[in-house]
Amino acid sequence: MLHEQQALHFKCTGCGKCCTGCEDHYIALSQTEAERIRQHLGVSRQWFKRRYVMHLTRNILTARMQEGRCTFLDKNGQCKIYRLRPVQCRTYPYWPEILESKKAWNNEAKHCEGINVGAIVPLKEIKRKLAQQLRSEEDETL
Ligand code: SF4
Ligand code: SF4
Repeated sequence: MLHEQQALHFKCTGCGKCCTGCEDHYIALSQTEAERIRQHLGVSRQWFKRRYVMHLTRNILTARMQEGRCTFLDKNGQCKIYRLRPVQCRTYPYWPEILESKKAWNNEAKHCEGINVGAIVPLKEIKRKLAQQLRSEEDETL
């Protein structure tokens, strides 16, 4: 994979673009992650399902998109559940499909201004996040 072949630069600018315009992908939440977020928001299970999430599979939920924005993104462009954000958000951009080639990495840079800028990301950190993402994907039975 790309991170094993070359050093990768990344620094999140907090632009919030990866939390918007996601009609063509989803923000997966495990049942455990969803329950932690629900408790943090202090809403009922019924209201949480109606307002914040949808079922993607039997086990996996996805955050709802509202007018092209993740439902957890506040009007100032900040994540309302940052401390509890899903694995998918924590591990970006070190997803297998982004790290599979230089082309995929540079293509993703068109959507994320933090890719290819900033300092070199320690290999250990990339490996840790990639492994975390792969573990979470094992639970996704699409
Ligand atoms: S698009 Fe990239 S730079 Fe912008 S908030 Fe998301 S990860 Fe950070
Ligand atoms: S959960 Fe938070 S970090 Fe993840 S896409 Fe939604 S607003 Fe962005």
